[in-house]
Amino acid sequence: MKKLLYIVLDGLGDRPIKDLGNKTPLEAANKPNMDKLALKSNMGFVYTVGEKIAPESDVAVISILGYDPHKYYTGRGPLESFAEGLDMKDGDLAYRINFATKEKSSDRIIDRRVGRNLTTEEAGRLAEEINRKVRLNGATFKFKNTIGHRGVLVIKKTGGRLSSEVTNTDPAYEKEGVYGVAKEVFENIVQVCKPVNGRENSKEAIEAANLTNDFLKKSTAVLEESPVNMEREKQNKPIANLILTRDGGERLPKFPNISKKFNIKFGCFVEMPVEKGIALLTGMDIVELPLPTKDLGGDYTLRAGKVIEALGRYDALYIHIKGPDEPAHDGKFREKLTSIELIDKYFFGNLLPKSPLKNTVFAVTSDHSTPCEIKAHSEDPVPLMISSSGIRPDGIESFCERNAKKGSLGKLIGPELMPLFVTYIK
Ligand code: ZN
Ligand code: ZN
Repeated sequence: MKKLLYIVLDGLGDRPIKDLGNKTPLEAANKPNMDKLALKSNMGFVYTVGEKIAPESDVAVISILGYDPHKYYTGRGPLESFAEGLDMKDGDLAYRINFATKEKSSDRIIDRRVGRNLTTEEAGRLAEEINRKVRLNGATFKFKNTIGHRGVLVIKKTGGRLSSEVTNTDPAYEKEGVYGVAKEVFENIVQVCKPVNGRENSKEAIEAANLTNDFLKKSTAVLEESPVNMEREKQNKPIANLILTRDGGERLPKFPNISKKFNIKFGCFVEMPVEKGIALLTGMDIVELPLPTKDLGGDYTLRAGKVIEALGRYDALYIHIKGPDEPAHDGKFREKLTSIELIDKYFFGNLLPKSPLKNTVFAVTSDHSTPCEIKAHSEDPVPLMISSSGIRPDGIESFCERNAKKGSLGKLIGPELMPLFVTYIK
């Protein structure tokens, strides 16, 4: 049996960009190593969750790991909270949160991400103050910051249950069932948490909404007094005086174990808490990595080394690389292109010489497209290539969205990928 390297480049897919000569960032990037793989591959294009769906990363990852998200997904909040080690039982209410900046005298939001420059260390001090000073009536909570302005919150009703059928206080996301859906247009005002339509009479939802609103009010009071924010004010930086809740869930997903499901031993490389949560709940081993730094080249080199080391212990490695998604959300197509080139040079460039196709299958794809043009995830399919020796390659010279559509694998949906990869390694 060959080894499988399942490499997912977050938000890789894009649309042609005029300033790149009508090419996508992937198409325009200089990526000799990925193109070496392309020559020995079969290609196709993938709707990771389904056609006409612009998925969030978590739902997409669940799907491309072989699970029907409609059956298993219980919301982003529970996944991230679990990943961060917050204890969560059925009937607890778990949120994904952002630190944000609002006007002191009103509910108008100035920046949903505190200018993207709140450090993890600052957020940690703010979280500590919130846990120490905020008290809720009839409930307890655990609050934890994760990376930068991001964090998680679990509220537990004393001696009872809460319902997650409540709306987001973050105006940028709609709640549709267990899914969080990014809104294209929204008014930048803190939303009051309420039971979702049709659940107005649910006691557990009313209580959940009241506790959430109370948490927001009390945490803002603590944050506005915090020395962390006073320092930021002095430095003319936006202050973190608001917690925005979204994607509440009331239980953890129960996945069948991935290694048993496909009869291969899985390890993984993941960076973001939500991916860690999915990895742990599906039964993959997490290969520990140092936190990402500003030196992307160094980070990718290190990851390539760790992959080679870990390949001895596992049949398959799932490797999720965050690189291209973030610049795409800011519409920075040149930075997205650079991030692809760095991944090619330092990750693939260090990996390929040490993991010959003779005994390794490379499956390279993405969890969703993030077109720079719209600065958000889209329903566009993502390209896929599966490179291996002993197959009849499609004869395509370069890996990109356009070429993937000409590949022999044709159109696929996320849950079809894992069973397909298994046929290549066995
Ligand atoms: Zn993603
Ligand atoms: Zn994204």
